[in-house]
Amino acid sequence: MFENLSERLSGVFDRLTKQGALSEEDVKTALREVRVALLEADVSLPVARDFVKRVQEAATGQAVTKSVTPGQQVVKIVHDALVDTLTGDADPGALKIDSPPAPILMVGLQGSGKTTTTAKLAKRLKDREGKRVLMASLDTNRPAAMEQLAILGTQIGVDTLPIVKGEDPVTIARRAKTQASLGGYDVYMLDTAGRLHIDQELIAQAAAVRDVANPRETLLVVDGLTGQDAVNVATEFDDKIGVTGVVLTRMDGDGRGGAALSMRAVTGKPIRFVGLGEKMDAIETFEPERIAGRILGMGDIVALVEKAQQTIEAEQAEKMMRRMAKGQFSMNDLKMQLEQMLKMGGMEGMMSMMPGMGKMAKQVEEAGFDDKIITRQIALIQSMTKKERANPKILQASRKKRIAAGAGQEVSDLNKLLKMHRQMGDMMKKMGKSKGGMMKQAMKA
Ligand code: GDP
Repeated sequence: MFENLSERLSGVFDRLTKQGALSEEDVKTALREVRVALLEADVSLPVARDFVKRVQEAATGQAVTKSVTPGQQVVKIVHDALVDTLTGDADPGALKIDSPPAPILMVGLQGSGKTTTTAKLAKRLKDREGKRVLMASLDTNRPAAMEQLAILGTQIGVDTLPIVKGEDPVTIARRAKTQASLGGYDVYMLDTAGRLHIDQELIAQAAAVRDVANPRETLLVVDGLTGQDAVNVATEFDDKIGVTGVVLTRMDGDGRGGAALSMRAVTGKPIRFVGLGEKMDAIETFEPERIAGRILGMGDIVALVEKAQQTIEAEQAEKMMRRMAKGQFSMNDLKMQLEQMLKMGGMEGMMSMMPGMGKMAKQVEEAGFDDKIITRQIALIQSMTKKERANPKILQASRKKRIAAGAGQEVSDLNKLLKMHRQMGDMMKKMGKSKGGMMKQAMKA
């Protein structure tokens, strides 16, 4: 998977990571090469352009992390941008199959791997979730395809709807529905007919079946080897029939991989699964992290930079703890805390983790604290000068006005923040003083 792209990118980054210092020009050159590599992998032009832009912005805005080279840091930024581009669905593997029997409609061109994927997914539902699945082939044009599904069904121990010669697809879909209800199946999967190209008859047929079955999921199966074509096919199917997700097959081949990167950006539809071979187990949920890892092939460097960034955060937190125990609690410290809170699932999540803060957590909750407020408070602090952050006592009316205006807020908002800062500072001081207090304990830990 992604061999060529991966090779190209590792060439670019090998050169970059070996350099001690990076100039803007180095990064620009590298990103130009990344763009070419993406285009050669058949990633669509707007997606490649957007990707490079995003990396460039992130690279400019990021402070250099100690103990890693700038090149390594760029690798991490590219990795994050890849994950971001690939991410489409929080939980791609979770098929909506509540309220049995849940219909799943499988659509796609002939030869895309639709029948194989139908059986793979049925097996997965049976093995992993203990579901009873019924599969039905609607490919009345090709008796061989109907038999193929029956054979696969026997092989994986999943029932298929008996073939009745001469029935049309809509009738078969109705029969599958009835059979699934009567037989107590959790899921029934409809493997529609494919064509070599999208034509009106194919679409009309799939739409008619869709209207009868009212599927919970409509999965489009596309051949990952076809690159940009796969994305075009997906756009068209989604326009005409509406799909809930995409399965990208043949990702075990050394295709150019562009389809994976362009799919969500161009179609807005998430990739849910990837097919990785002909065997019935060769299917995986689509995991952006893992795919990004395969594309970049630089997992070691990514892990290294993550670790370095975490170490720095831990060092900063420790320094802050020490200062706070001494009763020094600046606006910068508060800002760092607020940012940490955002990361840790908001004020409530953070408070609940600190001993003795339960009561405050409740107050915070009652005060309607949420991420938006935290973000607004961070904006206020950002609007202060260095001197003001270090010593908020100097904030008089005119300064307050300027700060509030700079953050697009009212002076009363700023006053609330200042009050909170004071209260927190007092509390920290008290805790620092009390023997074996929270701060000391936390520092020992
Ligand atoms: P359909 O016409 O869309 O139903 O396609 P089939 O399911 O009959 O698949 C066509 C061929 O592709 C078969 O030989 C499958 O074994 C093969 N195939 C399907 N999915 C994959 C995959 O993920 N990787 C590989 N290597 N082959 C696949």
